[in-house]
Amino acid sequence: MRHTAIILAAGRGSRMHSDTPKQFLLLADRPVLCYSLQVFQESFVDEIILVTGEGQEEYCREKIVGKYGFSKVTQIIRGGKERYDSVYRGLCASEGCDYVYIHDGARPFLDADILERARQCVEECGACAAGMPVKDTIRVVDEHKCSVSTPDRNHVWQMQTPQVFSYTLIRNAYDRLFAGGDMQGVTDDAMVAERMLSRPVRLFEGSYRNIKITTPEDILTAGILLKPQNKITSPPAN
Ligand code: C5P
Repeated sequence: MRHTAIILAAGRGSRMHSDTPKQFLLLADRPVLCYSLQVFQESFVDEIILVTGEGQEEYCREKIVGKYGFSKVTQIIRGGKERYDSVYRGLCASEGCDYVYIHDGARPFLDADILERARQCVEECGACAAGMPVKDTIRVVDEHKCSVSTPDRNHVWQMQTPQVFSYTLIRNAYDRLFAGGDMQGVTDDAMVAERMLSRPVRLFEGSYRNIKITTPEDILTAGILLKPQNKITSPPAN
């Protein structure tokens, strides 16, 4: 079985208010992107496709892949305008694999345990995604910010990556999306599988550390999480 990772690093990171895209910001001494690349490099995954922004291919090749010796990176390709454009390009570049692990390069705290849970889950059900139960009460609001409903917290999870699929399944879903499917509000791959194939996607436990660097506070949090003394292991979520 061939396991391929698609690592997404083509976002511009407008919510970070920084000229440097979030996946290239420095965390300790290295770019955020290096951390998840390292975990995939040391894992059972056979190859890594790195999707990056226009004009960033050379930087990734020299300053990240070459410098840190990520030998499993077989292709560095250019992403697209939206996340789903970047994923589709990654999928087109990874033909021939059995399972595909789609991961946000802006999530540096992926670990080997999450990857192992991903592998077990995808081998059982073919379509799965990392997530965690929400800690806060979530309200759905209308356009006036008035609360309209409160979903039962026990049934609400926040989505993370990796999102992991049998290759043929997710390729089929994305082919349909790009053949005229409804792209409105598509923010992750589980949505594409559900919307295009009416295919249930099973969630497996990511971790509360597996944050996505999005806004300036996240870089501060990441700095704290990175310290070896702060490696707490949370009990299982459910
Ligand atoms: O924008 P968002 O926070 O959803 O980005 C999640 C991940 O997808 C990031 O790692 C980002 O670099 C990547 N991305 C991408 N191509 C885009 C937009 C986002 O590869 N057009």
